[in-house]
Amino acid sequence: MDISQSKQICVIGAGQAGAQAIFSLRQGGYEGAIKLIGEEPVPPYQRPPLSKAYMKGEFAEERLFFKPMAWYEDNNVDLILSTRAEAIDRAARRVSIENGGHVDYDALIIATGSRPRTLPVKGADLSGVYDLRSIADVERIKPGMSEGRKMVIIGAGYIGLEAAAVARQMGLEVTVVEMASRVLARVTSPVMSEFYTTEHTAQGVTILTDARLSHLEGQNGQVTEAHLADSTVLPADIVLVGIGILPNEEIAADAGIACNSGIIVDRDTHTNDPRIFAVGDCARRPLVHYGRQGRLESVHNAIEQGKLAAAAILGKPRPAEDCPWFWSDQYDLKLQIAGLSEGYDEIVVRGDPEDRKFAAFYLKNGTLISVDAVNAAPEFLASKKLIIAGVKVAPERLNDTSISMKEIAVTALNG
Ligand code: FAD
Repeated sequence: MDISQSKQICVIGAGQAGAQAIFSLRQGGYEGAIKLIGEEPVPPYQRPPLSKAYMKGEFAEERLFFKPMAWYEDNNVDLILSTRAEAIDRAARRVSIENGGHVDYDALIIATGSRPRTLPVKGADLSGVYDLRSIADVERIKPGMSEGRKMVIIGAGYIGLEAAAVARQMGLEVTVVEMASRVLARVTSPVMSEFYTTEHTAQGVTILTDARLSHLEGQNGQVTEAHLADSTVLPADIVLVGIGILPNEEIAADAGIACNSGIIVDRDTHTNDPRIFAVGDCARRPLVHYGRQGRLESVHNAIEQGKLAAAAILGKPRPAEDCPWFWSDQYDLKLQIAGLSEGYDEIVVRGDPEDRKFAAFYLKNGTLISVDAVNAAPEFLASKKLIIAGVKVAPERLNDTSISMKEIAVTALNG
């Protein structure tokens, strides 16, 4: 079997990763049929503005879409929207879709993304309780976001905190309820958690840590209160749930494709079926700079894997892999994260958090593995290079702001 001779490619999931795979296939000269199956009613769009400028009403909907509808027509991509792919028949090389149809494939890319974890408590189904994943979610939330209304956010991860910043800027009274002992506990260090807690508190957000939601109460089907395990009662007009996501791997697992909290793929995004690839939030991939596997939930990962899948299908050389990176916008703070900090044994802070411009570097055995840079683009950019190179960096140089990041990087790289 020569996958590069594929005449029909099917993509399941019209999100960031699926769209990128298609753009790269066409850019790479693929001329065969492409069918993109997406359960949402709209063509592929970027999600980051949903918890930022779009939620605030400062970002027009058209700007969310990667390409206008005409692009798909002009490039002979058959968009099958508002349609869920239901099953993969690997022997017949066929994807069945809802309403009884099917799509045949020579190569299949699974780009089904992830879905929000649901609240396992009484009252989670009341109206006024929302997830934040899609344009449709924001359209449901936005009408209720008016000055003076009370929003309770469950979960102090990036999405919860970004939404808190937007809601606060729109004049809502915001309380964030976090089960862990600090915000962003799953993704970053105590230094960053403290910084963001201080910022949000200064902006008037109430942050409750070590706080467990017990249940939600409502009247006439509409949420009115969030009850915590310690008996605290928080009045709530809107409850936003941001407690993490789960990979949409079931369609692959049901077809016998290897999964383990994510569809398992190799460096080129192959699953254990040579005709099937998986990309984006749904995939568990080799993390080449870290010597292990993992699932990444980011735009960078979705784009990179979309490109990797297209190259693998077209038989082209593997594109270079960057180190993982991510960003979060809250108020006027741009946080840029490069690398994965898990397993660090030393933190070096460069600059003063009080200046709202600083970076926290994470080292393991003297090697830089990650950075959190707040309003500090040079620190972010230089760190990406250092992380990819896997070189040792002297901590005393990193926290010496009299030495430029460029100079630190050049010295370490030539090291
Ligand atoms: P998605 O973009 O979720 O696309 C998957 C698509 O597949 C969805 O449309 C889904 O409905 C569809 N689908 C699933 N199952 C089926 C099926 N069986 N049949 C048909 N269609 C199906 N990342 C950053 O790097 N920086 C940020 O600042 C940032 N902010 C974010 C803010 C929000 C509110 C959200 C939700 C995410 C944010 N992310 C951010 C994460 C980033 O958007 C995701 O990692 C990225 O969208 C993943 O792309 P994907 O294609 O894997 O999944």
